[in-house]
Amino acid sequence: SVVEDAPALTDGFQLVIDALKLNDINNLYVVPGIPISDLLRMAQAEGMRVVSFRHEQNAGNAAAIAGFMTKKPGVCMTVSAPGFLNGLTALANATTNCFPMILISGSSEREIVDLQQGDYEEMDQLAIAKPLCKAAFRILHAQDIGIGVARAIRAAVSGRPGGVYLDLPAKLFSQVMDAAEGAKSLVKVVDPTPAQYPSADAVNRALDLLKGAKRPLVIFGKGAAYAQADETIRSFVEKSGIPFLQMSMAKGLLPDTHPQSAGAARSLVLQEADVVMLVGARLNWLLSHGKGKTWGKPGSKKFIQVDIEPREMDSNVEIHAPLVGDIASVMEVLLKGIEGGLTPPTEWMATVAAKREQNVAKMAPKLMSNASPMNFHGALGALRRVIKERPDAMLVNEGANTLDLARGIIDMYEPRKRLDVGTWGVMGVGMGYAVAAAVESGKPVLAVEGDSAFGFSGMEVETICRYNLPVCIVIFNNNGIYRGTDINPTGGADPSPMVFVPGSRYDKMMEAFGGVGVHVTNPDELYRAVNEAMDSGRPTLINAVIDPAAGTESGNIGSLNPTSSVRKM
Ligand code: ADP
Ligand code: MG
Repeated sequence: SVVEDAPALTDGFQLVIDALKLNDINNLYVVPGIPISDLLRMAQAEGMRVVSFRHEQNAGNAAAIAGFMTKKPGVCMTVSAPGFLNGLTALANATTNCFPMILISGSSEREIVDLQQGDYEEMDQLAIAKPLCKAAFRILHAQDIGIGVARAIRAAVSGRPGGVYLDLPAKLFSQVMDAAEGAKSLVKVVDPTPAQYPSADAVNRALDLLKGAKRPLVIFGKGAAYAQADETIRSFVEKSGIPFLQMSMAKGLLPDTHPQSAGAARSLVLQEADVVMLVGARLNWLLSHGKGKTWGKPGSKKFIQVDIEPREMDSNVEIHAPLVGDIASVMEVLLKGIEGGLTPPTEWMATVAAKREQNVAKMAPKLMSNASPMNFHGALGALRRVIKERPDAMLVNEGANTLDLARGIIDMYEPRKRLDVGTWGVMGVGMGYAVAAAVESGKPVLAVEGDSAFGFSGMEVETICRYNLPVCIVIFNNNGIYRGTDINPTGGADPSPMVFVPGSRYDKMMEAFGGVGVHVTNPDELYRAVNEAMDSGRPTLINAVIDPAAGTESGNIGSLNPTSSVRKM
C-alpha cells in the first residue's frame, strides 16, 4: 500500500528527544505550555522522567543542581518569553555557580519577532540569554538538532561548567525529515570532559611551595566536590597530613569529623597558614577575597590554586603557583608528587586540632538545649543528630540564620550531599533543589528552610506531593525575615516589611496536597518528626516554631547590609 511504501519519517519533536537520550540525558525539569507541551508528552512516552513544576525558576534550579550532582547537564524546558525569563534566573545562577545546565525554551516565529510585529509571547530570547550564560545557540532546521544539542552539552560541561541556552522556535518541532537521515544526524558527544593535566613546571612550582610550608592549609570548594575525584582527594589529604577547610557545598567531600578538618578552627587557620592551596574554590566574597583581617598579616601567605579556568588565577590576590587543569587530573599528579617528599606538619596540625576541640566543646551544650520556643541551636542540634545517623541523606539548606547556623552545626559525611544557596547566597533555590535531589539520588531529602526562603518556591510542595518524593521540609518559622519582631514605626495598620503572619501553619499547606504536615515546638518533637518522615519516605512538611526574637539581622553577613547613620532603624 501507499502507507507501507512511504519512507519512515521523523520530526523535530522526536529528534530533540532522541538527541538528549543518546547523550544519557533522561530527566527533564519543565513547565509545559505552547510550544513544548507535545514535546513533553512524547518525552514521557519515550521513557524520560519528566518532572513538571509550578514555576520555571524552580524547574531551572532543579536542572542546575542535577548538573552539580551528576556532572552531566541538567535540562530545563520552558515556554517562550515570560517562561523563558523565569528559567533564565536559574540559568544565570547555574552559570555563576559553575553548574552545567541547559535551558531549552520554545520561542515564537523568527520572521515576526525580528520585525517586532507583535507575536504571541514575542521576545528575542537568544539575545537576552547571551550575556547571562556561558553559551547560547538557536536551531532552525530539524537536521541541525543533533549537532545543536551536542554543542550545548559540550559547552555546558567542558572547561568551567556553566549554563547554556538553547532556543527552539515553535516551527522547528513540526519540521519533518526522513527517519534514517534523522538518526544519522544525531551526535553522541565523545569525551565531553577531557582530562586536562598541568605542565610539569606548574606542578613542581606548587610542590615546592607545599614542601617548604610550615603551616599549610588546603581549601576545598564546590568545584572539588563536583569533580568526583573523591578517593584521590582523600588520599592526598591523608598522605600529606595537611589540615583542610571545606566550603559550604564541599562539606562532606571528606567527613566534617575527619581528624584533619579545620572547620571548627576556621579563623585560626585562615589567619595563621603560610601556604594555602585552593582546590575548586574561588577567592570571592565567601573567602573575603583572600585579603583583609580574616587572612592575617598582609603578605604572610603564598597561594596555590587548582582550577580549570585559567582566568580565575590572580582574580583577587596574586596566585604564586597556578595549577590550571581538571581537579581529578591535578590531584592525581600532586598525590604522586608528595609521595615520600612531604613531611606532614604534625605540630601545626596539633595546634589546629586543639583549637577545634576547644570550639566544638564550647558549642556542644547549646546544641542540647530542648527549650521551647526553640532557638536555632536547639533545633539544629536535633537535625545534626538526624544527619549523623543518616549520612547518605541529601540536605538542602537556605535562609539567613537558618543557613549560616546550619552550615556550621550540621556535620556532613559524604560528598555532594549538601546543596545550598551557593555563590550568590540566593534565596529561592530550596524546593527546586529538593525535588532534583530526590529525583537524581533516589535518597531521602531533608530541606532545612527559613520561613522567608521557603516562600520563594513554596508552591512546589504540590509538585513534591504529586511525584510522591521522599522530601522532608523543615521550616524554621520565626515569623519573619531575620526575626519576627519588627513593628511598623508609624503605628499604622500595615505590618513591618520584615515580618509575616504570626503563628503561620505551613504544615497545613502540605496537608492540602495529601502530604504529611507536622507542627513542632521543641527539639525532641522535631527530631522524632524528621525521623518518621525519613523512614516513611512520605512528603512531609514540619512547621518548627522558632523564637521570633532568636535571629540576627542578615545572619552572618550583616557587614554587607548598609544601614543609615542619619536615621537609626
Ligand atoms: P566555593 O563557592 O565552594 O568556594 P566556587 O564555586 O567559588 O566554590 O569555585 C568552584 C571552582 O571550581 C570554579 O572556579 C570552577 O572553575 C572550578 N571547577 C569546577 N569544576 C572543576 C573541575 N572539574 N576541575 C577544576 N576546576 C573546576
Ligand atoms: Mg525567618
